[in-house]
Parts: sequence; structure tokens; C-alpha cells
Amino acid sequence: MNIVLFGPPAAGKGTQAKLLTTERGYIQLSTGDMLRAAKTSGSELGNKVAGIMDRGDLVSDEIVIALIEEQLENNKGAAGFIFDGFPRTVAQAEALDKSLQTRGTSVDCVIRLCVDDKVLLGRIENRFKEEGRKDDNPEAFKIRLGNYNEQTAPLLPFYAAQGKLSEIDGLADIDTVSTSVAKILDMHNTGRSLRTKPFWKRILGLK
Ligand code: AMP
Repeated sequence: MNIVLFGPPAAGKGTQAKLLTTERGYIQLSTGDMLRAAKTSGSELGNKVAGIMDRGDLVSDEIVIALIEEQLENNKGAAGFIFDGFPRTVAQAEALDKSLQTRGTSVDCVIRLCVDDKVLLGRIENRFKEEGRKDDNPEAFKIRLGNYNEQTAPLLPFYAAQGKLSEIDGLADIDTVSTSVAKILDMHNTGRSLRTKPFWKRILGLK
């Protein structure tokens, strides 16, 4: 099962992705976390992206696609992946489709956490105070939100056209959002098992 968690920065994608890893054993692939780890380690990649990230801009498609590619390669037997903060551009989404296709799999569903911009600004003010992430400061956050609206939101019609997009209220409390996510995934799983079961087993009601 490959899931894309979709939504603006601070919509709660990371929180939901972490819950899914513990509940379902899927692997969370957060490009933001990978890039922050590279920054902290002081690696060549980290130094290259530090300024871009602190400003709130997007790093190049080439860099994040390579990070995802590496993780897919390293986790071949995984039960599923949760893409968190990736893809963020149409080019990244196309690269992901291609990469999964070569592995005989695909994006199964895209779950959009819908949140209001004003609420996000409030959330981020708190996170900035608590965690002090440079890119959560009001100026950088405005740039991140702008990038989301200009470069990432165009992915919604891309996935809607593939019939993969589901939307949920991201403003509800964490448990309610998590229940909504679970319902969508369970629907997908049921649909899949019905589709893959041979017709004679379905008719006879066999497992
Ligand atoms: P996040 O924690 O997902 O909000 O990501 C933090 C920062 O990492 C973003 O503001 C970007 O600078 C960078 N980043 C993370 N994922 C991507 C991506 N898929 N494409 C480009 N830049 C990314």
C-alpha cells in the first residue's frame, strides 16, 4: 500500500504518518526529515540545502527524487510507504509514478488534509516558539505556504484525474483525523481484496 499524505506545511502530515507506521508497519518517507537530518549532520548535501530550507524555498526536484529513490531501494520488502511532504511538484509526482512502476507498484491513494491558512499560521506560531525551526518563522512560513499554493496544489488535479484523491478535514483533533485516514485505507484494502479474489471464490463466499 503506497499512500501520499498531502497538505500544506503544518497540516499534520507528519503526525498522521507516524501513527500509520506504528499501527500498520508502513515506512514513512519524509523528505523534510531526510533533509533536516542531512543539515544536522553537516554533510555536503546538508550544507547545500541549508540556506534554501531556512528561507522556506523548495530544494531541487533532482535532490529529493534521489533521496526517495535511495529509500525505495533500501526498503524493498516493505508492506507499504507513506510519502510525507513528497511529491511537492508535478515533476516529482511523475518521477514517483515512474519509479514505483519499475518496481511493479504504484501510488494507491492520496489523502489530502484540508486546513485553513489562518489556522496554519496560528499552529506554526506555536511550533516556532516550541521547536525554533528557522523555516517556521513568519517570513519563511509565508514563502512555504506560497510555494505550496503555486507548486504543490497543482498536484491535486493530477491525482484527482487518476481517481486517487480523498479529502478529509485536517482541522479535527488528531484521533478524529486518524480515524478518517484509517477508513479511507480500509476501503482501499477491501476494494483491492475484492478485485484480486478469483470470481469463483467470491461467488462461493470463500476467503
Ligand atoms: P517539510 O518538513 O516537509 O515541511 O520540509 C521542510 C523543507 O524541506 C521544505 O520547506 C523544503 O525546503 C524542503 N523539502 C522537503 N520536501 C521537499 C520536496 N519534496 N521538494 C522540495 N523541497 C522539499
